[in-house]
Amino acid sequence: MKIICIGRNYAEHAKEMNAAVPENPVFFLKPDSALLPPKNPFYYPEFTKDLHYECEVVVKINKLGKNISEKFAHTYYDEIGLGIDFTARDLQQKCKEKGLPWEIAKSFDHSAPTSPIFLNKSTLNLEAMNFSLKKNEEIVQVGNTKDMLFNIDQIIAYISQFLTLKIGDLIFTGTPAGVGPVQIGDKLIGYIEEQKMFEVRIK
Ligand code: ZN
Repeated sequence: MKIICIGRNYAEHAKEMNAAVPENPVFFLKPDSALLPPKNPFYYPEFTKDLHYECEVVVKINKLGKNISEKFAHTYYDEIGLGIDFTARDLQQKCKEKGLPWEIAKSFDHSAPTSPIFLNKSTLNLEAMNFSLKKNEEIVQVGNTKDMLFNIDQIIAYISQFLTLKIGDLIFTGTPAGVGPVQIGDKLIGYIEEQKMFEVRIK
């Protein structure tokens, strides 16, 4: 399986990164080794001094597809989860300055912890779904899918022009504003509406 991540999908986050709002979805990949086995802690990597969380709604693909039209995209997923797109912000900044790809900053081992549970989309209002991230005792990110620049169906239609989507692939749909650093000892808890989705400890 592969993990496809959308960048700059919330205008307020693009603004906080001093990035332009894109004309088309911007995406990059993480390998399957970016998943964090359930219940494992996340170990702060030695190659960064500025690790950031980005809490994101995650879509699980349930059907093989290529060149999927927006109209039929909803038939390619049933389940919605929540994840963290961990980012070594210092390395990413260097990559950006040099015009280099972002993989060392985004695609390293365990950089995509994903909720152990997924919710059936029939139980959710995907057009306006709240999600949030709590760091220790403080809510640090609050998002709503209505603020996505490209919705899930548009993302699937766009990506599948280039990549065949396979059963089990995960799409991280971008982060809202409020990204920030984590330190060893922090605890990150993600919610969709009131439902606790994941808890990740930084060691
Ligand atoms: Zn992200």
